[in-house]
Amino acid sequence: MNYAVSRNANLMPLGTPVVAKFGGTSVADFDAMNRSADIVLSNSDVRLVVLSASAGITNLLVELAEGQDAERRVYLLDEIRRIQTAIIDRLNKPDVIRDEIDRMLENIGMLSDAASLATSTALTDELVSHGELMSTLLFVEIIRQRNVPVEWFDVRKVMRTNDRFGRAEPDTDLLSEQVIQQLQPRLQEALVITQGFIGCEGKGRTTTLGRGGSDYTAALLAEALSAARVDIWTDVPGIYTTDPRLVPGAKRIDRIAFEEAAEMATFGAKVLHPATLLPAVRRGIPVFVGSSKDPSAGGTLVCSTTDNPPLFRALALRRKQTLVTLHSLSMLHSRGFLAEVFGILARHNISVDLITTSEVSIALTLDTTGSTSSSDSLLTTSLLTELSSLCRVEVEENLALIALIGNKLSQACGVGKEVFGVLDPFNIRMICYGASSYNLCFLVPGSDADQVIKTLHRNLFE
Ligand code: ADP
Ligand code: ASP
Ligand code: MG
Repeated sequence: MNYAVSRNANLMPLGTPVVAKFGGTSVADFDAMNRSADIVLSNSDVRLVVLSASAGITNLLVELAEGQDAERRVYLLDEIRRIQTAIIDRLNKPDVIRDEIDRMLENIGMLSDAASLATSTALTDELVSHGELMSTLLFVEIIRQRNVPVEWFDVRKVMRTNDRFGRAEPDTDLLSEQVIQQLQPRLQEALVITQGFIGCEGKGRTTTLGRGGSDYTAALLAEALSAARVDIWTDVPGIYTTDPRLVPGAKRIDRIAFEEAAEMATFGAKVLHPATLLPAVRRGIPVFVGSSKDPSAGGTLVCSTTDNPPLFRALALRRKQTLVTLHSLSMLHSRGFLAEVFGILARHNISVDLITTSEVSIALTLDTTGSTSSSDSLLTTSLLTELSSLCRVEVEENLALIALIGNKLSQACGVGKEVFGVLDPFNIRMICYGASSYNLCFLVPGSDADQVIKTLHRNLFE
């Protein structure tokens, strides 16, 4: 189909644009990219497209960045080449893009050799950024085949972040300034395709926003452009009452408030990167979540209000949580102990996720939101040494955080009984309830997590 006429006719003037983001499975291969192109071209309001790497590529690049022997490096690089070449081979005019992708693959090879000698977080980010760089180059060709004016844009020109490699934080003021100067004018001329997930720190080195960060990129760019909406196209037709892969009986939520969806994302609903809704909330930009495999199936709209929000909205699960318990008798009737503990954690750049306290102990979990690492790897020897100089430290690993998301939970009666009454067979290791009226969180042994989610879903949602 040739979209050129309708697209061109619609390219000027620029109203409030829609930003569309396509995840890894939506750009996994030639057919997926074509389905995603159909979605983009069916809505002339979509001016900016944000892409993830083709499915599997980021994992392969992360493995290379961890430093591999020569044989493994060859294998991993061949896998990456195979996935990307399969797309190139089906293009009408593959030669120009083949050279560009070959150059990228060569670069990946050199960086992987360097990683096999010495790894670093900066090198990892440089390496993994190639996934998004390649998928966007390929997608531009797919659009070009439809005779639509299209432009590839390197998001690092505008996505300025700090240098916390692997989990970089964007400078939203600079971003907004750069977007207005460098990106917005281009949207008048052509459909612009850019990378999710990656950014650039002050010295020009590539950074990443944490795994799954392309959703966040799309929302940040939408905020800077004052976009009308962000469309997140993924492999499920919306946000469900829990992960539909784990619980087939999960139900789609057609409309959900920002606060509820943000809680879901924060507590592990992988369908949205945890930070995605922050920029959307700041500007009140609605976020749509749908399936690029089946766009006609509809999806979920995340927006500022919903009718009659239910008491129980959804269940989220975060695996691989570490519980740190700090015991100190000197905490009894004393002041400032918590401040000292938090001071140490802050110096180690660690934020606390859940916390409960008793007279002589504190139990807390570490926030790994958006991180490439699990919480146990945040517990460095120097952090443990510092904490141990203050109190006795106990560490329990492989727990799972279950979050029940709802509305006015802490004002309702009977919530505790309804939730924990059906969880008799399980050990509940820690409970957090009351600080937020949107969630009730607790920890269970990792091996019980699936069963706890299934039991709760059956009793509260089915
Ligand atoms: P993408 O690569 O498109 O960003 P992700 O794999 O990051 O896709 O997110 C989509 C996945 O999120 C789904 O396949 C699903 O298994 C998972 N998921 C977890 N919780 C939920 C939920 N509550 N609703 C929908 N999907 C969920
Ligand atoms: N490609 C990156 C990842 O796999 C970012 C993303 O998909 O959002 O984590
Ligand atoms: Mg994702």
